[in-house]
Amino acid sequence: MGSGEPRHVDPRSNATVIDQNGKVIYFGLERFVRDICLGDCCFVCGARPGNVPFNDEHVIPRWILRRYNLFDRMINLPNGTSLRYDRYTVPCCEACNTLIGRMIEEPIRQIVEGGFDSVRHTRTLDRRAAGWTCWFMYSWHALPAPSS
Ligand SMILES: [Zn+2]
Repeated sequence: MGSGEPRHVDPRSNATVIDQNGKVIYFGLERFVRDICLGDCCFVCGARPGNVPFNDEHVIPRWILRRYNLFDRMINLPNGTSLRYDRYTVPCCEACNTLIGRMIEEPIRQIVEGGFDSVRHTRTLDRRAAGWTCWFMYSWHALPAPSS
């Protein structure tokens, strides 16, 4: 491992690819399930708590919780878990959380809060909305089933 250039990886190979700086640029399935789905590593970069600052990511962004008064309401997840919206978070390091906020959540917030005219005049809407939707669906389904 250690190549800085992205390379083709057969998704069935279960290989994790790490760049020359030690950052995971592709998770193999086994490591992804162990570290992200069942573990407490950052869901974006795989960093371990204790190695870098963590502040966890709200799956439903706080601006949506505020806008629709959802903080103390309950959400039922596909895995059978029920929890308050404001406690529905996934492990995320501060650096990745900041990046998600700047690249995805803030632009989407501005578009949504700008109403119809904002949506109509936003050329990047499709790409950002698709990214945000993927992130949301990923977070929704990455939580493990309850252990009861
Ligand atoms: Zn991270």
